Amino acid sequence: KTFEELGLDERILKGLSTMGFRKPSKVQERALPLLMGNPPKNLVGQSQSGTGKTAAFVLNILSRMDLTSEQSQKTPQALILAPTRELARQIVGVIQVMGQFLDGLVIGTAVPADTATRPARMDCSIVVGTPGTVQDMIKKRILNPTQLKVLVLDEADNMLDQQGLGDQCIRVKAMLPRTIQVVLFSATFPTHVHRYAEKFAPSANEITL
Ligand code: AMP
Repeated sequence: KTFEELGLDERILKGLSTMGFRKPSKVQERALPLLMGNPPKNLVGQSQSGTGKTAAFVLNILSRMDLTSEQSQKTPQALILAPTRELARQIVGVIQVMGQFLDGLVIGTAVPADTATRPARMDCSIVVGTPGTVQDMIKKRILNPTQLKVLVLDEADNMLDQQGLGDQCIRVKAMLPRTIQVVLFSATFPTHVHRYAEKFAPSANEITL
């Protein structure tokens, strides 16, 4: 299958071609029909770094953006949780390149920073952040969660290796719309990650590479 056959918008295809992606990787080919289906499915994916999982969840998010009004551009529609600020920044970089032809797309980063440099409001279409900062920003009404359609948890196994981060993700999710699409990726699935994934992404489709 080609990216065109997966039903991606022209502007997204253009972004992909500037990255030099010619055809979908295995995880993209399997994940995108489920993620972009009607109705969109929850997904739990086992996928190592290097397989193209970032593009898989980013392409779904970009496809589902409504950027038709200034209001919609500035209200978060997708939230990506990552275990470290470095990973969050990498994901932001991927979205910036892939989404460069989507007019009005604004990407926000929610990672630990001095409160002095923290924005007063996350007026953006996509937020990428670490769980503690995201939770804090929602509580303080810096981040409006009411229009979120997609929630991604990346590197779940790394997340659960760090004290308290898994619980923080659960607390964030509890503040989001009930009908949100949930996507979880992890390189490994030992029992505790599996149990967590079942709770975090209920009745998800599972893909293993
Ligand atoms: P990830 O698994 O998200 O860490 O991505 C692994 C690497 O593969 C990144 O450097 C991507 O730029 C690259 N990549 C992802 N999808 C594709 C694709 N469909 N074609 C070529 N390279 C890709």
